[in-house]
Amino acid sequence: MLIYEYKLNGSHVQYAALDEAMRIVQFIRNKCLRLWMDERGISKNDLQASCAVLAKEYPFVSCLNSQARQASADRAWFAISRFYENCKTKKPGKKGYPKFQHDNRSVEYKQTGWKLEPDGKHICFTDGCGIGRLRLVGNKKQSISAFPIKQIKRVRIVRRADGYYCQFSVAAQRKIEHISTGSVVGIDMGLKVFYADSNGQTVENPRHYRKAEKRLKRLQRQVTRRQKKSANRKKARKHLANACLKVQRQREDFARKTANALVSSHDLIAYEHLQIRNMVKNHTLAKSIHDAAWGQFLGWMNYYGAMHGIEVVAVAPHYTSQDCSGCGRRVQKTLSTRTHLCPQCGLVLDRDENAAKNILAKALDRTLGHRETDTRRSVNASGQTASTRLSARETGKRAG
Ligand SMILES: [Zn+2]
Repeated sequence: MLIYEYKLNGSHVQYAALDEAMRIVQFIRNKCLRLWMDERGISKNDLQASCAVLAKEYPFVSCLNSQARQASADRAWFAISRFYENCKTKKPGKKGYPKFQHDNRSVEYKQTGWKLEPDGKHICFTDGCGIGRLRLVGNKKQSISAFPIKQIKRVRIVRRADGYYCQFSVAAQRKIEHISTGSVVGIDMGLKVFYADSNGQTVENPRHYRKAEKRLKRLQRQVTRRQKKSANRKKARKHLANACLKVQRQREDFARKTANALVSSHDLIAYEHLQIRNMVKNHTLAKSIHDAAWGQFLGWMNYYGAMHGIEVVAVAPHYTSQDCSGCGRRVQKTLSTRTHLCPQCGLVLDRDENAAKNILAKALDRTLGHRETDTRRSVNASGQTASTRLSARETGKRAG
């Protein structure tokens, strides 16, 4: 699935209609949740069926396209099934019992209720919400009209601080010819530098939030100073939301570009499997960790890795910064020790580079190990594994 995003351009009346559609979605989702809470043994189908009941009971619900109503019920079911899943797998900590929503910002249409104009620059929503015809503003190079309408599976409208956006999910694959460079790399992500790789290169941490922090704080103060429910408070809140959105976009942009650059220039990338959720519990570091956006970066790296068809390997983080990458001796050091100094082989390296080398070694160990067992398996592959063959021989002996 590919996502194409455009900004929507329309009148205030149309924006109000969009907000109304979003409120209906929230209403249906919450009603479905209520139904699930009140009655036992509610299934996904029951929720789907309740959409029709709701539409009869409340006239405003019937304004929304029927498939969009179903998509709202699906959302409720998604929250419920995630809760079930967490309970079943006994996930540690909170299980995420579904909550009623009060700030829904999106509405999702499936394949009806909208019409894309042939020029690919306008979309018209044809259901009873009265949204009408909106202009699509976006990158001229990415044209949604290039795809057959049948391939557009979902149309989602999202409200952000600076306006309304339309996302098309297209059933298509993006293929990229990976130009093999033969180079492999291990990266050690940190707070001092964004990452250090096993070749001694580093990428600076941009710290978008830290840079904007002063401004954000001032805007936040302005919001709290204004009188509640006043027009000025609304305006101040809008300024704050826009500033936050900017930081969010800068982070996303950085994560994406860095990941893409790394993937397109290597054939294998190894990184440390971090428990970001646990690390954030350390409050003195939480802000910096969030700001570094490792999660987004890893997400994009795996995405691009799959697209390029290269290996992106996560290794266990144990002792990667303590062990010597030259001889393997464990050299204890505190967080503030920035240099690795091995008493056994005399290796002197930057702490992060040493860690990155260890991460790469771990990954190569593992992937080579996997490959060996793979080939061994294929040699024996006559539909039987070693153990079944053994037992077959044994039973043969017994029978004979
Ligand atoms: Zn050593």
